[in-house]
Amino acid sequence: MNPVWLVLGSFLLMEGVSYAGHRWVMHGFAMSWHRGHHLPPVSRFERNDLFPIGFSGVGVLLFALASGGWTAMWWVGLGVTAYGAAYLFVHEVYIHHRLPLRVRKLAYLEWLRDSHRIHHQTSAEPYGMLLPLLRSRRRDRTPTRDPLERSVP
Ligand SMILES: [Zn+2]
Ligand SMILES: [Zn+2]
Repeated sequence: MNPVWLVLGSFLLMEGVSYAGHRWVMHGFAMSWHRGHHLPPVSRFERNDLFPIGFSGVGVLLFALASGGWTAMWWVGLGVTAYGAAYLFVHEVYIHHRLPLRVRKLAYLEWLRDSHRIHHQTSAEPYGMLLPLLRSRRRDRTPTRDPLERSVP
């Protein structure tokens, strides 16, 4: 298969994996790790930060398989890692301002931020990060405080 399709396909598939992980794992049996991310921050790091460390193991496994001879996995690993980098940028940098980087506002990124704000307010849909689909009438709520602000007091 053409490597471009492997990279692109894995990247796109990761949004589904990420959605499922957020909805049924992080808001399911692993909620004890995720709950703090929905509460006002008490320290610079959150237990929720353990998830990306765990998920990075998938990328390591894929690259290990590639170096063991299954070369197609190198391209899949590249797509998965690119998705992880995009997720990191969107969620930690753009939405929650956890790194002191200035990023220009873009309509797409603002849409992601507004969508994620709704998730923080309701602990429900949208669980997706790069394609947070939601019925339009659920977007009309006004927040009482900004649940996205992760700066430590
Ligand atoms: Zn968040
Ligand atoms: Zn959540």
